[in-house]
Amino acid sequence: MPESKSQIDARHYRNYRARYLKKAARYRRNNQPRIRAWRKANRRDVYLRFMTNPVNRLTTLFQKATKRNTFELRVLYALRANPPKRCACCNRLLNYACGKGNRRDSPSLDRWDNSQGYTLVNTFVVCCRCNTLKSDASVKEIRYVLAYMKRKPK
Ligand SMILES: [Zn+2]
Repeated sequence: MPESKSQIDARHYRNYRARYLKKAARYRRNNQPRIRAWRKANRRDVYLRFMTNPVNRLTTLFQKATKRNTFELRVLYALRANPPKRCACCNRLLNYACGKGNRRDSPSLDRWDNSQGYTLVNTFVVCCRCNTLKSDASVKEIRYVLAYMKRKPK
């Protein structure tokens, strides 16, 4: 049976890809000082671009957060598989585009119950603003703050 057009295309693609990868590897081998110099000169940009990828950002957040806390590794796998688009608390759109920087809408990891570690049921991605406001406050404390804020000045 003769090959169909898509089969021929696929074969050409595979051949080309192999050739391209070989060529790229040869370039990397022969231009190491040049590549290293470029990476050094653009380190910040390279890092920022890396961090704007939600998967990388969440991985870094997780690594940082779990230095001092107990955790389940499957939390990281769940986050990577499905990076949340919105804050779990106020439902605003999370901004992964600001790289490493922290803004109100930057993503951050929250332990719902601060006495527990980063477990699958205890970990949520909320915006920086919500996380700052919540901090380690209890419901009772938040109620006092809310009552204080709603009270009319005398
Ligand atoms: Zn929020």
